[in-house]
Amino acid sequence: MPTLFISDLHLATERPQITRQFLHFTRSTAAGADALYILGDLFEYWVGDDDLEDPLNGTVSAALSALADSGTPVFLMRGNRDVLLGTGFASRCHATLLEDPVMVNLYGTATLLSHGDALCTDDVDYQRFRLYARDPGNQQKFLAQSLEARREQMRGMRAQSEASKQQKTETIMDVAPAAVEALLRNHSYPRLIHGHTHRPARHLHQVEGHACERWVLNDWYETGGYLRCDAAGCTAVLT
Ligand code: MN
Repeated sequence: MPTLFISDLHLATERPQITRQFLHFTRSTAAGADALYILGDLFEYWVGDDDLEDPLNGTVSAALSALADSGTPVFLMRGNRDVLLGTGFASRCHATLLEDPVMVNLYGTATLLSHGDALCTDDVDYQRFRLYARDPGNQQKFLAQSLEARREQMRGMRAQSEASKQQKTETIMDVAPAAVEALLRNHSYPRLIHGHTHRPARHLHQVEGHACERWVLNDWYETGGYLRCDAAGCTAVLT
């Protein structure tokens, strides 16, 4: 059975169709897989693991824990939208929380997994925000507020981020080839799988004479989809 990779589902109460598609995926395609890796931005936004009243969070964690209990290990990585997702939610999902990036051995092929936003180094404003959002002190301050205050603040940040994206070129918001190659060099030329840019593709990088495959996962805005990998290699499947 293959190992499956998904990212950038951006699950939100406002988009119930995608949630239904995801729930179906956990019960059909993912059931019986060797493992399911979720490489960030499972949720459109995340205000903290204590946001238990939100029915979406309960539905998603129930589906993932059922999948894990049925024998398919579930691995969760934070994205930029759900950077505050923590061990509390991961344990509700019976999932393992992953650092970004992380190396795994995939049927004998060294494979590096990442959300991918760290590679968009041409977007200087975003990288500044990324450092701010990942600072433990800033996270503590944010999480110390009431849930309602956090939701309000998150709405403001999302609106701001959407507005600033309108001003940016497509090239700036893609990964920077130099950043990709530096990452591959620092990890001894692995295969790389990431999401974030919403530009599903298979790229081939030549890094110091090593051919490195880079898979970019699709988002779940228009369609669902996943990357399936086994000993023979990886294939992208849109659903
Ligand atoms: Mn992202």
